[in-house]
Amino acid sequence: MAGPTTYFDPADLPALAERDPRAAALVARRIAALGPAYRLFYRDPVEFVRGDGAHLIDRDGHDWLDAYNNVPSVGHAHPRVAAAIAAQAATLTTHTRYLDEATIRYAEDLLGTLGGALGDDPNAMFTCTGSEANDLALRIAVAATGGRGVIVTEHAYHGVTTEVAAISPSLGGPESIAPWVRMVPPPRAGGDLAADVRAALDSLAAAGYAPAALVVDTIFASDGVLPDAPGLPEAVAVVRAAGGLVVADEVQPGFGRLGGDAAAPGGLWGFTRHGLRPDLVTLGKPMGNGYPVAGVLGRAEHIAAFAARGRYFNTFGGNPVAIAAAQSTLDVVRDEDLPGNARRVGARLVEALLGFDAFVDVRGAGLFIGAELDSEDAALDVVARLRERRILIATAGADNATLKIRPPLCFTDADADRLLDGLAAALPR
Ligand code: PMP
Repeated sequence: MAGPTTYFDPADLPALAERDPRAAALVARRIAALGPAYRLFYRDPVEFVRGDGAHLIDRDGHDWLDAYNNVPSVGHAHPRVAAAIAAQAATLTTHTRYLDEATIRYAEDLLGTLGGALGDDPNAMFTCTGSEANDLALRIAVAATGGRGVIVTEHAYHGVTTEVAAISPSLGGPESIAPWVRMVPPPRAGGDLAADVRAALDSLAAAGYAPAALVVDTIFASDGVLPDAPGLPEAVAVVRAAGGLVVADEVQPGFGRLGGDAAAPGGLWGFTRHGLRPDLVTLGKPMGNGYPVAGVLGRAEHIAAFAARGRYFNTFGGNPVAIAAAQSTLDVVRDEDLPGNARRVGARLVEALLGFDAFVDVRGAGLFIGAELDSEDAALDVVARLRERRILIATAGADNATLKIRPPLCFTDADADRLLDGLAAALPR
């Protein structure tokens, strides 16, 4: 069973029972209770009981290095975030239909990080997941443009709702996308993204669809980690000229992962790296360091067009505990200058990775690094061998041959050394 990493194959349960009876019993109970749609990483699944920084501790007390998980972005179980969540949960949690100053303050703070990229008076709307954020962004784009057509990259992933799964070819393959969706090759040197987008617009028009939006993950994670995205600004101009909006999906790259300058306008966001001024920005994953909080930032006129069609309410979206998680996470990102750490440690990693002969390409921005091998088999083999050394990592890209290195942003030099030592032992020679 191939995939983003080596998944556990339920057919191997008897063999697992020989190696690890307790894990096998738990896997059997899990399959019985949760059903067959879920996947477990690894041929020998792992069970963690505690986390700290970029480390996870298993039930036998072993320390694992986490070079995979981007949600606990300021570090597993960060004490400031944990305390803020606990204090708010012990005080009050309601929803966005009552006045709550902390929610307003967080929205103001968050919008202030955009550096004017979404105009002078942007708005923030809160959801619980990145999927909901992209779903809402699509509804806003449809309301603002009157169009329906959506353009995404060939191996894009934007989430799991029916609407968003229909713009996520990496989930169900090219056949799974909706009739109003067109795919373009991801931006790479030698390509011409603007021409591809123009062709997609023509194809949509021929089918009777005006454009609503170009949706891009600004690090192109599922397309194989493409931090330079040549031609993206030109493609954005083409979509705009045709009347479509541009949605920057910052669920993976946002909140400083790409190593921008946290104090500079727009420094926390991937779109700034590409010199873009998007219309809508979608957020998720690291926003609450693991607490489910996500959202959409948008230009005032587009949010107004959406609001003219009806109200918006999301029961848990932006509740006071979610806001406490999000505010404390944003405070830690800035106070600990985690984007600066991502920039420094990420650059060190990229330089060291370039020294390994096995990689055909190494691409990175901050602590989002893609190191490409010559085949999926080679990449999955490295993932499995790193697991033996208690290092967590995964693969990405249409051909699944790229190692995806995406640790918590507090990754230290010692953590980087451990990863590099592990790779030196795990890589094919
Ligand atoms: N957009 C991108 C780029 C993502 O990577 C993901 C999640 N992997 C999502 C959206 C969806 O987020 P969620 O799983 O929180 O719904």
